[in-house]
Amino acid sequence: MLETTIAGSLPRPDWLAEPEKLKGDWKLSGEALRAGQRRAAEEWIRHQEAAGIDILTDGEVFRRHFVHTFLEGIDGIDQQRRTRMGIRDNRYELEVPTVTGPVSRPRPVHLEDFEYVRSLTQRRLKFTLPGPMTICDTIADEYYGSRPKMAMAFAQLLNDEARELVAAGADVIQFDEPAFNVFFDDVNDWGIEALEMAADGLDCIRAVHICYGYGIEENLRWKETLGDEWRQYERIFPALNASSIDQVSLECADSHVPHEVMSLLPDKTIMVGAVAVTPDRVETPQEVAETIRSAMRYVEPERILPCTNCGMTPIPYDIALGKLRSLAAGAALVRETL
Ligand code: ZN
Repeated sequence: MLETTIAGSLPRPDWLAEPEKLKGDWKLSGEALRAGQRRAAEEWIRHQEAAGIDILTDGEVFRRHFVHTFLEGIDGIDQQRRTRMGIRDNRYELEVPTVTGPVSRPRPVHLEDFEYVRSLTQRRLKFTLPGPMTICDTIADEYYGSRPKMAMAFAQLLNDEARELVAAGADVIQFDEPAFNVFFDDVNDWGIEALEMAADGLDCIRAVHICYGYGIEENLRWKETLGDEWRQYERIFPALNASSIDQVSLECADSHVPHEVMSLLPDKTIMVGAVAVTPDRVETPQEVAETIRSAMRYVEPERILPCTNCGMTPIPYDIALGKLRSLAAGAALVRETL
């Protein structure tokens, strides 16, 4: 009960990549980079095991970016054709690659890295992939002319990729959909349908991570505009509860999300964000325990997975490590009293 997991990413060590950046450049290349990524992944697996995390990830240390690394393995995208585009309803602007033809996946993107990580641990492993709607909000389109149409095309590729990862031993496949917290009508019109297509037929736990983004400046400014109570999840949870997805995440640590919104997910397991992805401070186990207990006013402990609010890529390595330990210790505190 109250098994712990993390949203996905962990900081890349400073010998591997520029630290504390969302998309920091690699400091190694070729075979040395590959060996370095494997070493970093193994270190995080050991840290998660030692902290007492139950469902682990590779820390996403093989990726430079949670969406673009997957897209680099996809045909039909011109990586050189950069288009300037507003992301997450113009919260920030980025130069992104452009879809110029039908998308296809010539070979597995993440399988080899996953197989390596699978060989490192007996514990359950979650693998994260970008969700179809979030992909469509992170790439320019000069071919499909319709986001839902493009999302369905990406969902098919994600499903093919995910099936291989499950066959290789992934226990949980999680699709990251931060865009779900922005485009509420689209989520209900076609976002969940695309998500379900990506998750279709996977013989594992299927999860979706929805959040208010990494703790970067643009997101912090946006959060200031959201008012005292963040009720965005209310707009999408009813449809998610009716979907075939097994697990849904929400941010509870250091956020303005009213915990009662969890009542809208009576049929789901809930990843309760119990540590924030802030760079300057580690929550105490007691604070984590308090967040979990607050969630338990709305959700029975059998359906709660204490988790991080979001990915921890942009925060200092030692802070992330401290947060892992507090997360596991806080969950243990609550477990003792059940
Ligand atoms: Zn997130």
